[in-house]
Amino acid sequence: MSPTEKNHLEVRNPATGERVGSVPLSAAPDVARAAAAGRAAQKRWGALRFADRARILSRFHEAILGPAHDRILDTLQSESGKSRRDALVELVTVAGTLSYYLAHGRRALAPEARRAPVPGFTRVEVLHRPHGLVGIISPWNYPFLLGIADALPALLAGNAVLSKPSELTPLSAELGRELLIAAGLDPDLFLLIHGPGAELGPALIELVDYVGFTGSTATGRQVALGAARRLIPFSLELGGKNPMIVTRGAKLDDVVTGIISGSFSNSGQTCISIERVYVERPLLEPLKAALRQRLASFRVEWSRSFDSDMGSLIGEQHARKVEAHVTGALERGAKVVCGGRRRTDLGPAFFEPTVLEDVPMEAPVAREETFGPVISLYPFDRLDEAVAAANDSDYGLNASVWSGRRPTSRRIARRLEAGSVGVNATLLVYHSFDAPMGGMKQSGLGRRHGPGGILRYTEAQTIVESSTALGGYESLWERTSSEGFASLLRGVFRWRRHVPGAR
Ligand code: NDP
Repeated sequence: MSPTEKNHLEVRNPATGERVGSVPLSAAPDVARAAAAGRAAQKRWGALRFADRARILSRFHEAILGPAHDRILDTLQSESGKSRRDALVELVTVAGTLSYYLAHGRRALAPEARRAPVPGFTRVEVLHRPHGLVGIISPWNYPFLLGIADALPALLAGNAVLSKPSELTPLSAELGRELLIAAGLDPDLFLLIHGPGAELGPALIELVDYVGFTGSTATGRQVALGAARRLIPFSLELGGKNPMIVTRGAKLDDVVTGIISGSFSNSGQTCISIERVYVERPLLEPLKAALRQRLASFRVEWSRSFDSDMGSLIGEQHARKVEAHVTGALERGAKVVCGGRRRTDLGPAFFEPTVLEDVPMEAPVAREETFGPVISLYPFDRLDEAVAAANDSDYGLNASVWSGRRPTSRRIARRLEAGSVGVNATLLVYHSFDAPMGGMKQSGLGRRHGPGGILRYTEAQTIVESSTALGGYESLWERTSSEGFASLLRGVFRWRRHVPGAR
């Protein structure tokens, strides 16, 4: 995207180069105005019951799966160049996330009674209060999902949201906002700012009470520094170099399906995409043959129909980066099993689904996130070797295991240093809405999804209460003025260590 008129950013379809829309550019005063409006609206919103907030978001849920469905898919495809199937997956993931929090959010946010120091005499309750203004900074690879879905639990928890989508893909978030407002949301509760992240990101972090960031590890570090300076809580969903382990006994057809989905959907531009495949040596040649055969009929193209397999990458610059990873490996002795080339005949940013072998560790593609449709195959002889190689990464986001025997796969899964591991699956964690999803090591801090995925948008407040009988709990301390009472108190604490209801 590039500035057109002075105050607008123009959005182009990376598959065709066609202009598909524009959004107003925001400057620092716009960020401050939006933050103030969000804070004012949040006061009313935060005071509502969960059911009242949920009613509005339920209407949004109906709209995205109903009347607005085609418009969302068209917008997503237009600004990202992705296939229609990939756009649909994105849409249903937003719907799934929202339906999970509509069903379970109230329980997660409900006040909780906790064990009291002296049951019956004292009472302890934990409340989950909204932070106030939540900031969301999101990347271009899933503009509707990452721009909207992470905001939905924040809204349900009673926050206002100030969001900065990637400047490459602002239109899906704008459409999401329009649909939220049509569903009845106060426009000041979900505000968007547009422009370069290096300027607007820090400006946003200065003004919000929590920042939820999704993007690269390098930018995530900047976000963490900004949040640390203000001592505000934050979460980071970052990059990955995700491994797959395939052992003897795995069904090759299923493994190939797993690779097609886990490595080539969304043109490989998925944080939890598989980029490294460790395969037990006897399976290497059959796996290469099966991949060649399946990819021979793989349809890479720009199309509005569902039968296309893969669309464009996000832009020419990114296609060049993916190409550089492949050529960098070939120059160091790697071989192409299939694919390996940019497809400039299809558009400026298309790249073939690519399988490499004999990739040396010094090639960037071996260790750095490619974020494109490129995998490397590595044969292994001993499982320990494969587990060690899979774990030998600064990243730890997602992993996948295929062994043909679930107990074996589960044992392998437990040894992997990754925030999620799919057994006979690759991207399944994204639809496992009840379970935490996020990265170990340099792949992130914090988790989305599950009860924690809504609680992260709240601050715990503990309310402790004492009966006033006998002068109340704290009067106990005054009474320890005699050795006898002090000894009684020690006895009570010794006793409570052994009483299940009291400890
Ligand atoms: P970037 O880190 O480049 O950008 C992410 C967002 O941060 C964009 O909105 C960007 O704005 C903004 N930004 C840029 N500079 C700053 C800054 N200094 N302070 C605050 N915000 C800033 O990532 P990409 O957009 O290139 O996205 C790809 C990356 O995202 C990959 O590494 C991928 O693995 C990761 N990702 C992680 C996911 C996860 O859940 N773990 C999910 C999806 C992607 P702008 O670009 O407009 O300038």
